[in-house]
Amino acid sequence: MNNVSQSHFDAVIIGAGFGGMYAIFKLRATGMSVRAFEAGTDVGGTWYWNRYPGARCDVESIEYSYSFSEELQQEWSWSERYASQPEILRYAGHVADRFGLREDIRFNQRVLTAEFDPAVNLWTVRTDKGEVATAQFLITAAGCLSVPRMPDIPGRDDFGGNLYHTGAWPHEGVDFTGRRVGVIGTGSSGIQVIPQIAKAAAHCTVFQRTPNFSLAAYNKPMDPDLAREYKQNYATHRAKARHAAAGIASHPTPEKGAFDDSPSEREKLYEIGWNWGNTGFTRIYKDILSNLEANDTMADFVRRKIRDMVKNPDVAAMLTPNDHPIGTKRICLDTDYFETYNRDNVSLVDVRKHPITSISREGIHTDNEAYPLDAIVFATGYDAVTGAILGIDIRVKGRQESLAEKWSAGPRTYLGLMTAGFPNLFFITGPGSPSVLTNMISSIEQHVEWIAECLQYLRSSSVHRMEAQLNSEDAWVTHVNEVADTTLFPRAASWYIGANIPGKPRVFLPYVGGLGRYRARCDEVARRGYEGFSLDETAA
Ligand code: NAP
Repeated sequence: MNNVSQSHFDAVIIGAGFGGMYAIFKLRATGMSVRAFEAGTDVGGTWYWNRYPGARCDVESIEYSYSFSEELQQEWSWSERYASQPEILRYAGHVADRFGLREDIRFNQRVLTAEFDPAVNLWTVRTDKGEVATAQFLITAAGCLSVPRMPDIPGRDDFGGNLYHTGAWPHEGVDFTGRRVGVIGTGSSGIQVIPQIAKAAAHCTVFQRTPNFSLAAYNKPMDPDLAREYKQNYATHRAKARHAAAGIASHPTPEKGAFDDSPSEREKLYEIGWNWGNTGFTRIYKDILSNLEANDTMADFVRRKIRDMVKNPDVAAMLTPNDHPIGTKRICLDTDYFETYNRDNVSLVDVRKHPITSISREGIHTDNEAYPLDAIVFATGYDAVTGAILGIDIRVKGRQESLAEKWSAGPRTYLGLMTAGFPNLFFITGPGSPSVLTNMISSIEQHVEWIAECLQYLRSSSVHRMEAQLNSEDAWVTHVNEVADTTLFPRAASWYIGANIPGKPRVFLPYVGGLGRYRARCDEVARRGYEGFSLDETAA
């Protein structure tokens, strides 16, 4: 094979999205040599792949950014309240340039295997281009939503038009002008892409299985006063975000439950929350995500809003979520989503009532109708949280069980950071950590900083091998499930529990206890000399 090289580093990092980029920066700053492998041709991760029209972050741009460099946060200015994908990708590129990160990244290389040799305490990592790297530590930053999922619909590959997935969008963009476009999926991606496609297409047919709760984002140009205020007081805002449940400073920390207020007071607060245009809406009362009756008051408010926005009452009824409590599937943030169904060139098909049976050369077929199409957009989501990790054959030399085998009944980690039996392997925003329930950048920074400090500790104490203890892992998995069970989250058939992938074990993947509480636990574990981990001083 051409250009095959083998080299040794202190740490190998898988992925150069926001997690991988910060890990490169942070570990290098502690004097470690690093090599990152990235499947894309540039940095950005999620924001590199998700180039579909309308792609935009659902955390306000002023908060969805790194906090580790005062210079960086002072010099970068966001142009909109919610940043678009191109702007976030430019930001990622700026960070890579500013800190010279690309020199330690091998692009266009997908890691295929990683094997730990306990005799020498080294991981050997191999890529699809034949590159081999060894390192004492392996850090996965492969993304929680980076393995797009295309449902296996019979005849899919016979389709005569173009097939797209929102999570693997063509770099050159797609011109839908005058075309008949079908969109499958109405999660966050579908809800963002549908209004954009509808504006260009001759006709847009939406194939909806489950209606979703979505809030109007009220996106707008960045308010210069807000930007100025943030820049003056970043330290305060960031400190608040670090200890907030969702890693977002502007989210409320409610003390009242929904029934502490009268119906008219609740209605007033919901109206204010609705006009705010922020996912913090579900935090207006402290019991929205734990008490079904409280949740119903908010869900009903949003259902009424949907009925107000959609002119055709039959279409409004189809778009009204009714099978899960609000907030238990990721709440969506949209621009003109519901209003889009008032257009003459948009139609909605209920594929729960009339399932998609096949795709032919001409288009999509349900059990009662055929829909001729020129293009199909799959907004059908991801093999979330574990997909990218388990896409790599991770094993320990001399041990029968690979990581995929160990996790065959669902992921098992201690603090979402390590898994027993796989030494010196760290997960950034891994299963069992707050990750996807938070502002990802806040969670990424917390993990990278914890890991960097941990690796320094290991080096200064001559520890060569670290591993999660089985009993602490068992206790953490139990705790993650117990906390999830105190909430309404398990009532939704969501990707949070792997319900979107046929055959995927139903395990609650993220930790719902909140970033602040989780951070305190991780810090306490570190303070106690990495309690719950085995630290081995035996040099290889
Ligand atoms: P998703 O939330 O998993 O939604 C997938 C959609 O496809 C669902 O409506 C699902 O229906 C439907 N679907 C899947 N298979 C289907 C089939 N065989 N037939 C018909 N419908 C099918 O995926 P996503 O929208 O890509 O979002 C994933 C996550 O990415 C979000 O929850 C969010 O965390 C993140 N995201 C964030 C943003 C943002 O920041 N604004 C934007 C996009 C994505 P069911 O519900 O019935 O399964």
